Amino acid sequence: MLLPALATPSSKIALRFPDRELTYEQLAVEARRVAYGLVGKRRVAVWARSTPETCLVIVGALLAGVPVVPLNPKIGEKELAHILADSTPDLVVDDELPHGEPVDLPEPDGEAPALIVYTSGTTGPPKGVVLPRRALATNLDALARAWEWTEDDVVVHGLPLFHVHGLGIGVLGPLRRGGTVHHLGSFSVAKAAQALASGGTMMFGVPTMYHRIAAEPEHAAAFGKARLLVSGSAALPASVHERIEQLTGQRVVERYGMTETLMNTSVRADGDRRPGTVGLPLDGVEVRVVGEEPGEIEVRGPNLFLEYLNRPDATGGAFHDGWFRTGDLAVVEPDGYLRIVGRRATDLIKSGGYKIGAGEIENALLEHPSVVEVAVTGEPDEDLGERVVAWVVARGEAPAPEVLSDHVARLLSPHKRPRVVRYLEALPRNDMGKVLKRELR
Ligand code: ATP
Ligand code: MG
Repeated sequence: MLLPALATPSSKIALRFPDRELTYEQLAVEARRVAYGLVGKRRVAVWARSTPETCLVIVGALLAGVPVVPLNPKIGEKELAHILADSTPDLVVDDELPHGEPVDLPEPDGEAPALIVYTSGTTGPPKGVVLPRRALATNLDALARAWEWTEDDVVVHGLPLFHVHGLGIGVLGPLRRGGTVHHLGSFSVAKAAQALASGGTMMFGVPTMYHRIAAEPEHAAAFGKARLLVSGSAALPASVHERIEQLTGQRVVERYGMTETLMNTSVRADGDRRPGTVGLPLDGVEVRVVGEEPGEIEVRGPNLFLEYLNRPDATGGAFHDGWFRTGDLAVVEPDGYLRIVGRRATDLIKSGGYKIGAGEIENALLEHPSVVEVAVTGEPDEDLGERVVAWVVARGEAPAPEVLSDHVARLLSPHKRPRVVRYLEALPRNDMGKVLKRELR
C-alpha cells in the first residue's frame, strides 16, 4: 500500500498550509471523494499550485489509480501546449475538485503509473517521466532509513508541487510515513525559520534557498535546531555549505536525485556531511560510475521510472545494459561517497587535452569574496579545443578578469583557470533555481 496512513486515519495533522490544515481523517475522506470523481479516467492533469487542494487531487488520483500530471501554474504557453499535447489528459483540474461519495478502491498494482512528472527542462524540452507506485514506495522507504525519518517528523518546505522534490518526497514522503508536511505556500527564510521554531524537524530546499538562508543570519538559530536540513535538485556550493555551518552549527545533508530515478544517493543522518558530496547509494539502489573519471553515473533499482511518455526512442537511448544513464558526471571518493562534477552535456569542458568539470571551478570561484553567483561553461577555442568561460554575478565592483583567473589557478591548477570572464546582473534560472546554461551561449 502506497499510503497506509490513509487506511486507518488518525486525528494527526497530515497537511499544514498557511490557510488550511487537514488531519489524516479529513485527508482520507476528502481524497476518497476526489477519487470518486476520477474513477475511470485514463489520465488527469492538475494545476499544481502550492495548496492543500493540489495535494488532495494528487492523493485522490493515487487512490483511484489514475495517473496524474502536475502542471507548473506559471508555465509558459509554449511549454503548456507541449505538455498537454504530449500527455493528453481527460481532465485538467483547476479550482473545482472532482467529488462524490467517498469511495474505497482496491490498491493498484505496484507497476501501475502513479505520476507523470515533466523534467525541469534544464537541458532541453521537458520529458514526461512515467513513475510507477513501486518506485515511490521503495524510494521513500529507503530515504526514511537514510534519514531516520519517522511519523514524528514534520517536514518544512516551500518547494513547488510539480517536481519530484516538492511533491514526490516533500509531500508523499511525509504522508507515507504518517507524519506531517508543513508547506510554507512559498519559500521565505523568515517563514521557514518560524516553521522550524514551531515544531518543524526537517527542511527540504534547493541550493538557492540555502544561499538565502546564509544571507539572513538573524534567523540562524531556528535552522540550527532542525533535526535535518536537506538540499538537492542542484549542487550545493561548498561555500554555502560552510557558511550555513558557521551560522547554524548544522551541516546540510545533500542528496542526489532526478525525475527519472527519484533519489539515488544521500548522506545519511549519521554520516559524514562533507561539502560537495552527495553521499552513498540508498538501500536497494545500485549506482556505478562508468569510464575514466569523472565518469557518468548509471543507476539500476526499483526506484527507476517506467518510460518517457510517447518517447520510446528516448527511453531506449537512456539505458545501457539495463542501467539508466543519468547524464551526470561524478568522481567516487575513497569511502564511496559521490562527488558530482556536473552534467555530461554542459559541464565537461575539454581544454588543452584535459577533461575539466565545471562544478569544481564554480566552487572555487564562489570562494572569492567578489563572486555572488557563477556558472562555468566551455566555448570553442582554436588553440585549446575549448576554453573555460566564467559567467559571474559580482558583489560591488567587478574585479578584473585576471584576478578571478589567478584565484582559480592558485586554488585548483592553472589549466582550470577561466580564460574569459563575463559579468551579468543575474544568471538565467528555472523555477527550481537551476542555472539554464544553454541560455548563456
Ligand atoms: P532536463 O532533464 O529536462 O534537462 P533536469 O535534469 O534539471 O532537466 P530534474 O530531473 O528535475 O530535471 O533534475 C535532475 C538533475 O538535477 C540531475 O540529473 C542532476 O544533474 C541535478 N541534481 C539533482 N540533485 C543534485 C545534487 N545534489 N548535486 C548536483 N546535481 C544535482
Ligand atoms: Mg535530466
